[in-house]
Amino acid sequence: MKIHRISLPTPFYVGPVNVYLIEGEPLTLVDAGPRTDEAIEELRAGLARVGRKISDIKRVIITHAHADHYGLARLIVEESGATPHIHSWDAPSVASSMDYAAYRKLLVAAGVPGPVIGRMEAGYETFRGFAYPLDQVETLEDEDEIIFEHESLKVVHTPGHTPGSICLVRTSNRLVFASDTVLKNITPNPVLSPDPLDSRRRFQSLGEYLVSLARLKGIAPTIIKGGHGGDVLDYEEHFNRLYRFTRARQSKLIEVLPRNGATAWDASSLLFPGAKSYHRFLALSETAAHLDYAVAEGRLLVEQAGEREIYKQH
Ligand SMILES: [Zn+2]
Ligand SMILES: [Zn+2]
Repeated sequence: MKIHRISLPTPFYVGPVNVYLIEGEPLTLVDAGPRTDEAIEELRAGLARVGRKISDIKRVIITHAHADHYGLARLIVEESGATPHIHSWDAPSVASSMDYAAYRKLLVAAGVPGPVIGRMEAGYETFRGFAYPLDQVETLEDEDEIIFEHESLKVVHTPGHTPGSICLVRTSNRLVFASDTVLKNITPNPVLSPDPLDSRRRFQSLGEYLVSLARLKGIAPTIIKGGHGGDVLDYEEHFNRLYRFTRARQSKLIEVLPRNGATAWDASSLLFPGAKSYHRFLALSETAAHLDYAVAEGRLLVEQAGEREIYKQH
C-alpha cells in the first residue's frame, strides 16, 4: 500500500491540512481539503506529482465533518464519479441544510447570550462555506472494512473531536490515519455539538475522546498520520501527555469556578479570558467539554436554573 501525503493550504488558524492518496484498487483519497481555489490548485499539483489526476480517484473517505477535511469532496466526486464515505454520525453535518435548533438550545443552556448565539451561527455558516455540501454519501460504521484489491483498512470509530470522527487502521503494520483525533503539535478541540443519539443533550465529547484515545492505545499504533502536521511516532507518550494536560485543565477549571457557580459561557471567559470572535466558540466548546467530564467524574455538580445550567463545586 503506497501512501502519498498531499498538504493543502487552508484559510484557518490550524494551517495546512493533510490529505492522503492511497495507491491501490480502487484509488482512494483520505480527506479532501477546503473549498478554496488555492487548495484545488495544490490538490491537482500534488496528484500530478505522482502521475495522477482528480478523475482517477474512485473513493473518498472523509474522516470527519469539518470543512478543511471534506470541503472539496463533492468537486472530486463530480469530476471522477468517486464515492464519498463518512461516518453516519457526521453525515448530517456535511449535508446542504443544517438544523441549528438543537445547537441553539444547547447554547442557551450553556448561558450564551442571545446576540452571541446569532453571531456563532453566522460564523459556523461561514466555516461551512469553505465546503461544498454533500448530500449523497455512503455511511461508515465502526469496524467496517475499506477494501482494496490486496488488503484493507479497518474503520475505528473514535468519537470526540466530532461525534462521527473515524480513524483508519492498517492492521498489517498498525499504521493509523487519525486525522484530527491525534495531532502532532495540537490538542484537538472537542467541538460542542448535540449528541447524535439524543439531540437534547450535549455530546459528551471529552469523555468520549479519552475513551477513543485509550482504544487507539490498545491498537498500539506504530505510525500515526494526522490531519495536520507531521507523523506521530510515539503515541504512548503522546497519550500520556494528553492525559496529563486534561488533568491539569480540569484542576484549573475547578479552581477558577466561582463559589456560587457559573454557566459554561461564564466559565469559558474565566478559563480563556483572551478569546475573541470564533475562538469564543472554541473556548466555550473546550470549557463545556471539561465541565461535562468533571460532572461525569463527580468533581462538579450541575443545577438547572430556568433554561440555563449552572456548574458548582460540591
Ligand atoms: Zn477537525
Ligand atoms: Zn482539521
